[in-house]
Amino acid sequence: MLRQGSQLHEGANNMPRDLAIMACTECKRRNYTTTRNKRTIATRLELTKFCKHDRKRTLHREVK
Ligand SMILES: [Zn+2]
Repeated sequence: MLRQGSQLHEGANNMPRDLAIMACTECKRRNYTTTRNKRTIATRLELTKFCKHDRKRTLHREVK
């Protein structure tokens, strides 16, 4: 039981999670999150997504 708990904790800490937050470029709200792999880390993500606040499709850009 003790070992199992330790493994779980260690696994959570070591998990490389590259979370990208996508913010609407018009209303600046952070509407989407996505995970990115190492391969795409050099470029800033830009996606056209539906913004429920603007009620239309807008460009969403990755923010830190
Ligand atoms: Zn918006």
